Amino acid sequence: MTGDLKITPTMVKAPHGARVMNIEWADGHKSVLPHDTLRGYCPCAVCQGHGGEIKYVPGGDLDIRDIQQVGNYALQFTWGDRHDTGIYTFRYLRSLCQCDECRPTFEPGKVP
Ligand SMILES: [Zn+2]
Ligand SMILES: [Zn+2]
Repeated sequence: MTGDLKITPTMVKAPHGARVMNIEWADGHKSVLPHDTLRGYCPCAVCQGHGGEIKYVPGGDLDIRDIQQVGNYALQFTWGDRHDTGIYTFRYLRSLCQCDECRPTFEPGKVP
């Protein structure tokens, strides 16, 4: 087996009507990612501009209409306002976890 267990999802659930996505990882970690975190940290160039630190951009629609897998490395969401340019790599999704264990080292884009 290749790759990092920390950034290999074994289960992704986005319960309809809930404003959270649940991801379980191959290392046993469980992440609960609120939609406002996912949308606010959308990694696309429209939201993030060019370069610099990844920033939280408030105000986007928080309904997820559709989820597509991109290759074997990322997910792409279509939001209620049809914004769909963000490609969320599994590494990036793991970096957005703010559970008790992850919060002290929380830094979007960085998995310690
Ligand atoms: Zn975006
Ligand atoms: Zn965590």
